Amino acid sequence: MSSFDEMDAFEGASLSARAMAARPTPYLDDLNPAQRAAVEALDGPVLMLAGAGTGKTKALTTRIAHLLTTGRARPNEILSVTFTNKAAREMKDRVGRLLGQPAEGMPWMGTFHSICVKLLRRHAELVGLKSNFTILDTDDQVRLLKQVIAAENIDEKRWPARQLASLIDNWKNRAWTPAKVPAAEASAFNHRGTELYDYYQTRLRELNAVDFGDLLLHMVTIFQDHPDILEQYQRWFRYILVDEYQDTNVAQYLWLRLLASAHKNICCVGDDDQSIYGWRGAEVGNILRFEKDFPGAKVVRLEQNYRSTEHILKAASGVIRGNEGRLGKELWTDAAGGEKVRLIGHWDGEEEARWIGEEIEAMQRGARGMRPFDLDDMAILVRASHQMRAFEDRFLTIGLPYRVIGGPRFYERLEIRDAMAYFRVVVSPDDDLAFERIVNTPKRGLGDKAQQKIQVTARVNGVSLLDGARLLLQDKGITGKGAGELGALIGHLDRWGGLVGAKDVSHIELAEMILDESGYTAMWQNDKTPEAPGRLENLKELVKALESFENLQGFLEHVALIMDNEQESDGAKVSIMTLHAAKGLEFPAVFLPGWEDGLFPSQRSMDESGLKGLEEERRLAYVGITRAEEVCTISFAANRRVFGQWQSALPSRFIDELPEAHVDVLTPPGLYGGGFGAAQSSVETRAAEANVYNSPGWKRMQSRAGERGVSQPRESRNMVIDATAVSAHTTGERVFHQKFGYGTITGIEGDKLEIAFEKAGTKKVVAKFIMAADDIPF
Ligand code: ATP
Ligand code: MG
Repeated sequence: MSSFDEMDAFEGASLSARAMAARPTPYLDDLNPAQRAAVEALDGPVLMLAGAGTGKTKALTTRIAHLLTTGRARPNEILSVTFTNKAAREMKDRVGRLLGQPAEGMPWMGTFHSICVKLLRRHAELVGLKSNFTILDTDDQVRLLKQVIAAENIDEKRWPARQLASLIDNWKNRAWTPAKVPAAEASAFNHRGTELYDYYQTRLRELNAVDFGDLLLHMVTIFQDHPDILEQYQRWFRYILVDEYQDTNVAQYLWLRLLASAHKNICCVGDDDQSIYGWRGAEVGNILRFEKDFPGAKVVRLEQNYRSTEHILKAASGVIRGNEGRLGKELWTDAAGGEKVRLIGHWDGEEEARWIGEEIEAMQRGARGMRPFDLDDMAILVRASHQMRAFEDRFLTIGLPYRVIGGPRFYERLEIRDAMAYFRVVVSPDDDLAFERIVNTPKRGLGDKAQQKIQVTARVNGVSLLDGARLLLQDKGITGKGAGELGALIGHLDRWGGLVGAKDVSHIELAEMILDESGYTAMWQNDKTPEAPGRLENLKELVKALESFENLQGFLEHVALIMDNEQESDGAKVSIMTLHAAKGLEFPAVFLPGWEDGLFPSQRSMDESGLKGLEEERRLAYVGITRAEEVCTISFAANRRVFGQWQSALPSRFIDELPEAHVDVLTPPGLYGGGFGAAQSSVETRAAEANVYNSPGWKRMQSRAGERGVSQPRESRNMVIDATAVSAHTTGERVFHQKFGYGTITGIEGDKLEIAFEKAGTKKVVAKFIMAADDIPF
């Protein structure tokens, strides 16, 4: 309840304002004084700069609830920007909980991209687009750049399209239109960079398309060139809130500054130690500039961490201390005691995945001397998405439910992309890239030659490919089977296009119609490859996904923007995601696998950006550890297969930066040790062994384990058993194989054994993967 003192401030105010101010605000009681100050300072600029888990997002959400409760702003007058769609959804839920009712009608809560796409649709014509423009994904972008490069007779092998794509992205992140690219960049891409950028933008306009960078760039341009429009939005968005401010790039920063410059009601929260998107143009300097841009800003610092236990917090602080040039913050927590950070070394990545799988099941049961954890409470955070495969494989094998967040997405699958291309052409007939994708899928007898003719006709007449195809048919530039099929396709497209938004045909029916009448569904029905049934399932799933959208366009937009592929959740699941995707999230138990130099810190990042790259990696480590509330488990493997190649590795240098007093070293159980599972020649094995066991991190683990009276890991004792393994086996012997389970040897042939497995049937396997059943410790 507002106190009478606070009411005094309303003397002379209207009755309605006083009534609004008298509404209960119980949520304020859940805040500490610093948070409360940030929430109650509703007007004017506020910067909340604080470490992980100190309640920045909580304060931000409460501020939104407070703006609504006190009647300062209506839901549609609040612009609140978060980093991912998932975070936006969560924020909406949190506001709803604070208000005690669902937070309805908050159209401007979302990511920079999702908000800008909505704005740009309203003003597309100001940058030469139509309001139904398409959003290209990276693949389409690269394909278009390839065409641009080819058209300019540049050798794509020497000057790859991907390189140009990243150059242009960088420029767009800095809000540079082609005209604004500074002279200092003139030598980029063999001195052709700026010119190709300009040409690319022209092509995008012709295709009525934008790439991701354009969403912000175009909006900044519109605001800068049209003060009347900017003013309209300044009035409209009366309050602006930004989470994860440390990761905004220059274009995003300019966009925010333009919108906030009139009323200055902007509240940004962030943590310089969690800036992890430097590689995408994020400028941590934006935080430091805030006080300059908004003089008199209220700066709030928070120091109490409410998320993690002391051991976890101290471990994270110990690692981040290695970075220079920090603003420097000391965090504290009330949560003393609990588990130390757990550290474990494995032989290889498969073993690491196996161990984590079993550990998750054990923790679920409440083994390990801890409380039982629900699957939803546990997450695996990886540095690189290729690490996920091992976990996915393993979890599928043992039937452990999991979800991949932000990983290989459903919408990136071939059949889904094809289907979406059909939808795109129907909604936006100028979308040449989509047209190109579907014109001969399924096969319509329109090979390269025919497609080239379409391209030329379109170019000569300055029309879209679809219209080019129409003209070509009219002029009889194409004949035979192809002509008939093309005519039929155009007829279909026109008819489907006419049904977009029709009253009597829902967009779901339309989608089904498109897939069936185009022959696309039949194409997979007639396909005899093992993948075909799965693809048909996916197509069904796609149509199902349409149900939660009002129309095809809304759906296409959603997919273009989607950042995570959280599937419909029935039942608890372990989450797997990258460290980048985990920003802002929290889980009771977190696994951090793959802490090996080269993988984490990532070699590429260090090669490309040197010390700066290493420091960004260290911030990622800090983000990772601080996601954990109660249990944080860090692991590494001595060997790893990266893109099909075995590589031996040293434990991550970050491991040695963990403060010893807050770390427990675990010993892998025997089953995971040894030549067991190590698909290597023994020379490599020994090399890896020498490497890993001589590394300081490993030695330290050994001595710590020794101190605690724990025996040495098994692998250091029986690492090279494989040489003797063959002669050790006899037919009739009962053995165990890591993948196929128990079985009996029925034949021996060199180093290969024929084994009748109890579950998997008879198989030939290499002897070194086999263990005598008696040796299995459980
Ligand atoms: P990050 O930097 O990781 O994004 P954050 O600063 O945004 O962290 P929040 O996610 O807002 O932190 O809060 C961390 C946890 O602490 C949440 O579970 C939140 O509910 C809890 N929390 C925040 N403030 C308080 C408080 N005053 N009292 C009790 N719990 C709090
Ligand atoms: Mg947060």
